[in-house]
Amino acid sequence: MTADRRNHAVRAAVEQGLLTEEQPVAALLDIAGIRASAAALRGAFADVTDAPVLHAFAVKAAPLVPVLALLNDEGIGAEVASPGELALAQAAGIPADRTVLDSPAKTLAELSEALTLGIAVNADNPQELARLDELTAGGTSSPLGIRVNPQIGGGSIGALSTATATSKFGVALRDEGARKTVVRAYLDRPWLTRLHTHSGSQGIPLARMVEGVREVYELAQEINAAAGSQQVTTIDIGGGLPVNFDSEETAPTYAEYAALLKEQVPGLLDGRYGLVTEFGRSLLAKNGFFLARVEYTKTSGSRPIAVTHAGVQVATRTVYDPESWPLRIAAYDGQGRPKAGEPVVQDVAGPACFAGDLLAQGRALPLLEQGDVVAALDTGAYYFSNHYGYNSLPRVGVHGYAVTDGTDGTDGGVRFSLVRAPQTTAEIVAESGGGLARSLL
Ligand SMILES: *Cc1c(COP(=O)(O)O)cnc(C)c1O
Repeated sequence: MTADRRNHAVRAAVEQGLLTEEQPVAALLDIAGIRASAAALRGAFADVTDAPVLHAFAVKAAPLVPVLALLNDEGIGAEVASPGELALAQAAGIPADRTVLDSPAKTLAELSEALTLGIAVNADNPQELARLDELTAGGTSSPLGIRVNPQIGGGSIGALSTATATSKFGVALRDEGARKTVVRAYLDRPWLTRLHTHSGSQGIPLARMVEGVREVYELAQEINAAAGSQQVTTIDIGGGLPVNFDSEETAPTYAEYAALLKEQVPGLLDGRYGLVTEFGRSLLAKNGFFLARVEYTKTSGSRPIAVTHAGVQVATRTVYDPESWPLRIAAYDGQGRPKAGEPVVQDVAGPACFAGDLLAQGRALPLLEQGDVVAALDTGAYYFSNHYGYNSLPRVGVHGYAVTDGTDGTDGGVRFSLVRAPQTTAEIVAESGGGLARSLL
């Protein structure tokens, strides 16, 4: 289904001229796919609890205003971690009471703005809590909580493991005295009504995520027992559902995660606690891909190499850490039709000027030829949306697509909607000090 829609979209993208001499890379987002993922998330939690649940999309996974507005239309709020992300959420029309601010380095000004707006804040550490003491002196409508690190251990990708013994995030719960300090902090501050954890992203096994959630649930129970009332009303369980980058299959599913939570932490879902979730990658990854034209092909040391226009600027993690972040590559011909042919081991290279700029190394694909098109799949989150400006390569254009039945007169049955215009060369010059050319003379 998804693959069918994608093949339609690639054909139409080529026919409708989304790939050009000037724009040899284009990113595409499956609008129906995003809506289906949002519905799957809502449904999975609705199936296991009657409690109110705010699903807040982690904006960093796809910081694009039309995407946030689409998710808002699906009842999904926003988790933001910088003034820029907050501004994007606001531009998308996401209400303050559906926005959550998490970040380990919030300035006083950011905290103050969040409290003025009434958006939820999770304090990262005791120093931030001290700032909140001052800022809330006159009262606030913001739901406030503390982020804790259950220190349950990491996953297969160190850089994304937030719940290790020495992680920089949250209050390290197993450090000496920390648990007592956290409980005391709640007893001293009746306005602390939330508790937050996010055990990591991609590479964390499901069972470990559930363990992290169980730890915060038990801490909430302990705080409420000590307070003699339901002071903690809402538990924010973070995001981090891993994405399968190996095949079309969505695995694990939100339903599997929710069912495991129900089995392992039933008290969390029995209606006493409201919930917040902060999924990012799992909502968008499989609903996006980017296309790039093959500019040249060659051999080097007898290895065939297809030189494309997509590399480190749109696939930063894959290029710098290919072992952790392999991407599926689909080959299309110059008309955008799936390419057939005997698989040949080859490299798919990007345009940047360093040797490691490869989308795929030693990959068996139909032999790519000049003028073909390659698609890097499952890249709807953290890839083209998180541009990396190496070699002054431009931010690529992003287009939403909807496969129609053709009765509305659209070309090829696929309608594209611009999500982000491609960056122009003039814009690159301007943001690179172009207006200040003589400032160092
Ligand atoms: C990045 C992040 C998320 C989202 O993680 P995904 O792996 O994209 O689901 C959620 N919460 C916090 C605090 C984060 O930093």
